Amino acid sequence: MSHYDFVVIGGGSAGYAGARTAAALGLKTAVVEGAEELGGLCILRGCMPSKTLLESARRYRTIRDAGEFGLSAPGPGFDVSRIISRKRRLISEFADYRGGQLRDGRFDLLRGRAEMADPHTVVVTAPDGAQTSLAVRALLIATGSAQSVPPIPGLVESGCLTSDDLLDRESIPEALIVLGAGPVALEMASYCRAFGSKVTIIQRSPQILRGTDRDVADALAEALRQDGIEIFTGTRILRVEKSGADRRVVFLQGDREQTAGGTEILNALGRHAVIPHGLPVDLDAGKIVVNLSQQTSRPHIFAAGDVCSPLEVVHVAIQQGEMAARNAARLLAGRGEALESMDYRLNLFAVFTEPGFACVGAGEEELRAQGIPFHTAKYPFDDHGKSLVMGETRGFVKLIARAHSGEILGASIVGPEAAELIHEIVVAMRFHATAADLAGTPHYHPTLSEIWTYPAEELADAIS
Ligand SMILES: Cc1cc2nc3c(=O)[nH]c(=O)nc-3n(C[C@H](O)[C@H](O)[C@H](O)COP(=O)(O)OP(=O)(O)OC[C@H]3O[C@@H](n4cnc5c(N)ncnc54)[C@H](O)[C@@H]3O)c2cc1C
Repeated sequence: MSHYDFVVIGGGSAGYAGARTAAALGLKTAVVEGAEELGGLCILRGCMPSKTLLESARRYRTIRDAGEFGLSAPGPGFDVSRIISRKRRLISEFADYRGGQLRDGRFDLLRGRAEMADPHTVVVTAPDGAQTSLAVRALLIATGSAQSVPPIPGLVESGCLTSDDLLDRESIPEALIVLGAGPVALEMASYCRAFGSKVTIIQRSPQILRGTDRDVADALAEALRQDGIEIFTGTRILRVEKSGADRRVVFLQGDREQTAGGTEILNALGRHAVIPHGLPVDLDAGKIVVNLSQQTSRPHIFAAGDVCSPLEVVHVAIQQGEMAARNAARLLAGRGEALESMDYRLNLFAVFTEPGFACVGAGEEELRAQGIPFHTAKYPFDDHGKSLVMGETRGFVKLIARAHSGEILGASIVGPEAAELIHEIVVAMRFHATAADLAGTPHYHPTLSEIWTYPAEELADAIS
């Protein structure tokens, strides 16, 4: 039996962040990682591969649309196997780097599947079947998520794809039906559409990107439709059928039965938490229940990342992992020090479609539910100098400010460089800036960032 202060199960974004933080605080730490490859979801099959493919799609569109700028780039072509091989090269470099960080001796790395024998004992089964027991004082569960497969008749039998498959596939489906309209669904739809796939999105909720402000989601849906993506919202999928190389999804929209046809189906209907066997903590809807200090129902067992998080994004997984490690160190020190808490006020989220989507802070519905009075102001990209110069005129920015004080409470964008532009508002909100503060902040001309000054001025005038 080996003894550790802090054992982390899962070596992805949350787990690595927790382990390096705990080791730096002097805790004797081990990470247990069960996958064949080191790197976790973000590096191997999430953020980085998807953004690499989307970058190829973005550049292809730029070359294709070069005529508008007086440039000729006749017959732009693409080679998906070379796009995928660039992705493989980059991912292997990122994964090697992460592997190096996990092995550099700051903490022990054990390869194998972990399960819990009791609340203080982790058993690791190595790929060769050898078992090791670890006696632990505190634990971080950072075991991530896996693709869900809802019980839709015919879905499994149809041989539907997941994002894992599409991110490594050396051809673009001729006609892709995307089930779901969350970030992964929209990014994969955008990637395939750029390279000529006929794409149909089928979404259960009445809007894409469920939970985001309706006007912003609708603007993105409209832009994707202009690009030729067919989108059905407010649906209920009845069944999936396969006949030869053709696949069909039969669904209800209102009372009307409809059918979408394609050559491939992408299941992007969400992910579920991966829970280690024997974990003695409370779950809710399959996810580990944590408090804002990342503690589970057992105070010495912490969790971080997709396995417990209200937001399945990397920067939050990292924040949670680091904070869980600091809190575990406080707990183990036994001096009764108060634990830190997560703050989701700066809730940040982006989708790398064309045009892009990003938002931070609260949306209108959330503020209404909390009874917080607010004002909103929008400004369109088709009336903004730099975006006109760039030929990127679709979408708008939107700011939400608290009534009376003018403090910025949230913002969203559909438009060019959305994931970059949102960070100005993240910084403003972090320091509780008002719309007047933002309006009075110098912005170089002509830049995309300058667009924020227009809704900020409108709000500042309305609130003064
Ligand atoms: C296609 C796609 C695109 C995405 N794009 C973005 C993006 O652009 N931006 C963003 O912020 N987020 C993005 N995400 C989400 C992001 O990737 C995840 O939120 C994040 O990677 C979760 O990190 P994690 O540490 O919780 O889990 P993971 O990185 O999945 O790590 C969990 C680890 O635990 C290991 N494990 C599980 N069970 C055991 C066990 N019993 N024993 C030992 N090891 C175990 C697994 O092998 C895995 O390595 C994307 C996701 C997908 C699918």
